[in-house]
Amino acid sequence: MSSARKVTGIGASAGIAIGKAFVLPNWEWDLPEHRIDVEDLAAEFERLYEGIRHSKQEIKQIKQEISGYIGESESTIFDAHLAILDDPVFMNEIQGIIQRQYKAAEVAVKEVTDKFVNMFDLLDDQYMKERALDIKDVGNRLLKHLIGSPDVKLPTDNRPFILVAKEVSPSQLAHLNPANVLGIVMMAGGSTSHAAIMARAMNIPLVSGLEGKLVEAVETGDLLIIDGKAGDVYVNPDEDMIARYSSLREKQIEAQARLQTLADIPAVTTDGVRTNLFVNIASLKELESALAGGAEGVGLFRTEFIYMDRETYPTEEEQFLIYRQAAQMLDGNPLTIRTLDVGGDKNLDYLELPEEENPVLGLRSIRISLEQPEPFKTQLRAILRASAFGTVRVMFPMISSVEQFAAAKSVLAQAKDELRAAGHSFDENIRVGMMVEVPAAAVIADILAEEVDFFSIGTNDLIQYVLAADRMNEHIAHLYEPFHPAVIRMLEQIVSCAQRAGISVSVCGEMAGDPLALPIWLGLGVRDLSMAGALMLPLKSRIMLASHAHCVKLLHTIMKLRSSDAIRDSLSAYDRSLDERST
Ligand code: PEP
Ligand code: MG
Repeated sequence: MSSARKVTGIGASAGIAIGKAFVLPNWEWDLPEHRIDVEDLAAEFERLYEGIRHSKQEIKQIKQEISGYIGESESTIFDAHLAILDDPVFMNEIQGIIQRQYKAAEVAVKEVTDKFVNMFDLLDDQYMKERALDIKDVGNRLLKHLIGSPDVKLPTDNRPFILVAKEVSPSQLAHLNPANVLGIVMMAGGSTSHAAIMARAMNIPLVSGLEGKLVEAVETGDLLIIDGKAGDVYVNPDEDMIARYSSLREKQIEAQARLQTLADIPAVTTDGVRTNLFVNIASLKELESALAGGAEGVGLFRTEFIYMDRETYPTEEEQFLIYRQAAQMLDGNPLTIRTLDVGGDKNLDYLELPEEENPVLGLRSIRISLEQPEPFKTQLRAILRASAFGTVRVMFPMISSVEQFAAAKSVLAQAKDELRAAGHSFDENIRVGMMVEVPAAAVIADILAEEVDFFSIGTNDLIQYVLAADRMNEHIAHLYEPFHPAVIRMLEQIVSCAQRAGISVSVCGEMAGDPLALPIWLGLGVRDLSMAGALMLPLKSRIMLASHAHCVKLLHTIMKLRSSDAIRDSLSAYDRSLDERST
């Protein structure tokens, strides 16, 4: 057993785990160059198809088994795996190698998998790099069926362990019994890999991104402590360290159980101010779990996900059925549907956007909708028809001027006319609002507030545009600073314009669920916050400890501070004071 040491990677799934390491051997394949005779071609193809059939069956079975404990939404990761096995580019390359080079099916699968994995891995984009893991996972599964290699053997004594691996694929994760996996340490990856998404949904602490940092290898049987929030891993820690983290872990488990009890309690400050907590969703599955967690409505339905992974625009009927079901599930609570927001980092194959130097500043979002009014109108008709079944609101993204909002509204008016003519019912007084996420809109918020029914502040884009710091670029991640004084001033400007005009204002960017930002919202008088489902209960518990009056004063102080660091320090001090109150 080696001596105690600490390494720090990326905290990809929060929580503390203490236990013995189980080191997963690398799942790599070394295949001899094996060729086939021309008369065996048909049989080789049949072997390939048989392997694909088995792989699909296995993936479907895993998906079904795992959806019980990671949630429907995360289990769709395995739909992506099925799609890879149906991908014509991937499959044609494999068939081409067998047919033209007479290589055995497994050799072709390995070559093509390696090619795609390397291609994705070379891209300067963490998201794409992590998709390489999915391709490798599918390729390995297919290889297993072609050459019959065994699955990874996990400890059989049923004793819980901390999994240490170069990388963990979603399939491997799906095979693990969450009761036995205390935590995961992974050399590769960041926090947006599918393995990380699944670990968070399964509540398994995960530290990733340790490549090159573990100078001495961890061995099976080494004692580990992992802190999945801070990203720390202690190898063979001393007694004091074990005692400290054991008590921290106990506290976390208790806190988790306490949070669950808050689902049906309103989020009210100690001095009686209520905040409505809404959820951001991209699918009906997400809505289902958010409702169980006490969501009071949907503040942002990111509809672009209905348009992805397909070859043509979804029809009015297809969209209507989804929006109607969401409205019905909400049973009168608000459903804010944002119209298509693609371009920038979200693309659709069938949209054929032009190559642009700066796509985030280019043809995206409402700009595309106004250039292509037909599909836009189709979506608006579907939203309007769903409004007959609940409290539906329509929201336009990326609006930067009064003219643009008026143009979008006139397409909505045409959609209404068409529905009236066709005899469809809808809410004639449907509320129509806009995202405030472009600095220009924030600057003229007083003018826009007279035109719209509501504002929803999209801090994710607003921050990137105010600070000229691409939200996807890890090289300037330090410049993407939610607590920059310029951001805070802009937020104050937007909210006060909405309040003066008497329209509702909510926040739906990531900042809405950030506990550090809470005094800003309470201080400004924002009463509606919309966030990822997992953030709702932790934020509710903070709201219930906070004092509205104190936050008003704190915001006043913050507005006078001159640097992001000073603002962060001040907000962190308040956050710590809430922690003390909770213990
Ligand atoms: C935002 O920009 O803050 C937002 C909520 O929208 P998205 O993250 O989808 O761009
Ligand atoms: Mg946005």
